Amino acid sequence: MKPVSLKKIDPRTLGVEWEDAHQGVYDTTFLREHCTCAACVDEWTGERKVKTGMLPATVLPVTIDSVGNYGLQIRFSDGHATGIYTYDYLRSLCQCPGCHSRESGNPLLIP
Ligand SMILES: [Zn+2]
Ligand SMILES: [Zn+2]
Repeated sequence: MKPVSLKKIDPRTLGVEWEDAHQGVYDTTFLREHCTCAACVDEWTGERKVKTGMLPATVLPVTIDSVGNYGLQIRFSDGHATGIYTYDYLRSLCQCPGCHSRESGNPLLIP
């Protein structure tokens, strides 16, 4: 699964349209908090070094570049640019109402 287009929904929200026409929604601070680079996640313990509340209230993507054929590299307004979000990982972070309700265990979706 690959993104086909990126758009700024509002200054704090990134929209990603996927090749299955899924309209992904991403809060930019949430994306920054979920960076998986060595500076953000301890490579031995897997512990996340960047925690909610440690970042400026608004961290915006400055540039977004595709990396190879597998992910996006996002440069953020706090200067952080080492994180690469693979397409699979990015898709799993989707915050649209459909993906979000599945994650929180919406009882309507349990057969
Ligand atoms: Zn990082
Ligand atoms: Zn979604």
